[in-house]
Amino acid sequence: MALVIILAITVIILAVLLIQEKSKKTVPAASGVSSDAADKYRPDIDVELLTPNSFSRPQTATDKITGIVIHYVANPGSTAIQNRNYFEGLKDSQETQASSNFIVGLDGEIVQCVPTSEVAYASNSRNHDTVSIEVCHPDETGKFNDKTYDSLVWLTGWLCEYLNVEPENVIRHYDVTGKDCPLYFVEHEDAWLQFKEDVKTWISEHQ
Ligand SMILES: [Zn+2]
Repeated sequence: MALVIILAITVIILAVLLIQEKSKKTVPAASGVSSDAADKYRPDIDVELLTPNSFSRPQTATDKITGIVIHYVANPGSTAIQNRNYFEGLKDSQETQASSNFIVGLDGEIVQCVPTSEVAYASNSRNHDTVSIEVCHPDETGKFNDKTYDSLVWLTGWLCEYLNVEPENVIRHYDVTGKDCPLYFVEHEDAWLQFKEDVKTWISEHQ
């Protein structure tokens, strides 16, 4: 009799574990992409969140993210962490309101300054429903080097999947305000269209 009870309890425990495991797998990620793919292809991100402050990280919740906005830092040769630290310093200097969710650096490194669920001060009227990426560049042409470019394609493609944003809705700061940002992609429309194609290709290869 005792054996039967022990067996019955064992079966119940196994059934509960099985159900738990199954429900784990069906929990959706933050988007249309499966959590497995989101984890598998997640780029190496150095998360260096800014101190909450009204000049660069107001901790305002975004609306649903519907686009990704590409920028250039307009400071030739500066690194990702230097740009991140500039945003951090605005809490003290209070000279302007500026920040970005991500910065891609000259070695392809990715620094995150603001969570994607919070507004960053980068894209003017689209701050509330987009994620922003600032990109470093070696010189005044604003052209990205290969390491930076490849990393930007990866991050943008991954964010499209992770946040369920259509690649058509990857835009330039220029498309929001008419500002020459990112400069090289404004002056070279063909390079911009190629970048969008490269993002689409990345997505098709990393489902
Ligand atoms: Zn910009």
